[in-house]
Amino acid sequence: MLSEWQRFKIWRDVSCEEFEDSAWQDKNAVIRIAQLEAVVKDFVSPGLLSDIEGGIRRSGMSVRLSPYIISLINWSNAEADRVRRQFIPMASELEDDHPCLVVDSLEETSHSPVPSLVHRYPDKALFLATSVCPVYCQYCTRSYAVGMDTPLVQKEHVTGAKNWAAALDYIRSHREIEDVVVSGGDVSRLKAANINALGTALLDIPHVRRIRFATKALSVQPMKFLTDEDWAGAILALIRRGRSLFKDVCIHTHFNHPREITPLVEQAMRRLHSEGVVVRNQTVLLRGVNDDASTLRSLCKRLGAVIIHPYYVYLCDMVKGTEHFRVALSMAQELEKEVRGATAGFNTPLFIVDTPGGKRDVHSVEFYDRMYGVSYFIAPIVAPGKQFNYFDPLRTLGLGARQVWQNHLRDEVIRGVQIAAYGQVSPRRRRTDTPVQFPVA
Ligand SMILES: *Cc1c(COP(=O)(O)O)cnc(C)c1O
Ligand code: SF4
Repeated sequence: MLSEWQRFKIWRDVSCEEFEDSAWQDKNAVIRIAQLEAVVKDFVSPGLLSDIEGGIRRSGMSVRLSPYIISLINWSNAEADRVRRQFIPMASELEDDHPCLVVDSLEETSHSPVPSLVHRYPDKALFLATSVCPVYCQYCTRSYAVGMDTPLVQKEHVTGAKNWAAALDYIRSHREIEDVVVSGGDVSRLKAANINALGTALLDIPHVRRIRFATKALSVQPMKFLTDEDWAGAILALIRRGRSLFKDVCIHTHFNHPREITPLVEQAMRRLHSEGVVVRNQTVLLRGVNDDASTLRSLCKRLGAVIIHPYYVYLCDMVKGTEHFRVALSMAQELEKEVRGATAGFNTPLFIVDTPGGKRDVHSVEFYDRMYGVSYFIAPIVAPGKQFNYFDPLRTLGLGARQVWQNHLRDEVIRGVQIAAYGQVSPRRRRTDTPVQFPVA
């Protein structure tokens, strides 16, 4: 019998040992359309390939695919495939952006006291250790810095080992930082020696109590934990050292669809679990991937089955080029209600809107006008006195509301809907302006 990957002619002679070797996966990563064509041409029409080529030209993220992730895609129905949609763009599925979508929607660059470090919350910091990943996600929040340049986005060069010393000095001199998220990019693309150097430097800082290593490799290249002994060994050694110092070192990962939890993921988790490693998952709520309750419930159940704790489900951030992935806040609120109760509370994620004021529970919205898709949240600890908006995708609004977005500036629309609701700008502020006259939606 042929193995999954041996369905692809180009990999027909690849043995199980090779395919499940992380170095082989890296060596055979697909980054160009011609390489993809060589792999999948027996399954797809030339029309589909040119649709993909058109998608790549308009995307803010470059493409990189492990053979493993290619083998999870059902190529005979690639248009509808929920794994394909996350990593390979198609021009026909893109939508015109909402006017408020920007490149760095969480304003990470302006919350960086030194390059490579985002310090938004009082006691935690986000360390951007690299700008590369094993596979690139089309909806990436950090498309301003992650991956190769694309026609839509020229990347900021904020990450990389040359910035580490300054970022470490910043953490050393800020005793309030107890918690460091080491992310990027993806730590699976760091060399074992660099993981070890960075992790050791962080563990040596007395006030750092918690470190989380963020990697999507567990879902897109799980063999990293099974066959890259140097790398996996470096991570496990840091976790053990953390334990001996009474510090909390764990792994955060990123699964979006139940189909991504494969026997190989289970094998990787059996290894991590036997070493006592805590693994938490962050999902992005994506239209056409996991935006229905039964998929999300099955994702939580399957994660729970391999002892990965579902931690967060994020609304897709308001990042340029991601309109087709976004869903309305109301949809996230409804889905949360249909997930909670299905399994253990600790295997039930919090549904989150991320903002420049930090992460907010979708149900904690202060104000929500569904007609214009305008909501706002407050963040008393991180940014007292400020409001942070989420704007529903244009597709979910009526024609009249879409015209208002086309014809008015962002602040005019926000002011308009608040005045329509309260007769003033907000319950706490005096009316300062006359309302914009909206056509009836
Ligand atoms: C998400 C995030 C963190 C970690 O937040 P938790 O809610 O503790 O998971 C830290 N710093 C930044 C900048 C973040 O975006
Ligand atoms: S793995 Fe994370 S950082 Fe890398 S492309 Fe995906 S979302 Fe972005």
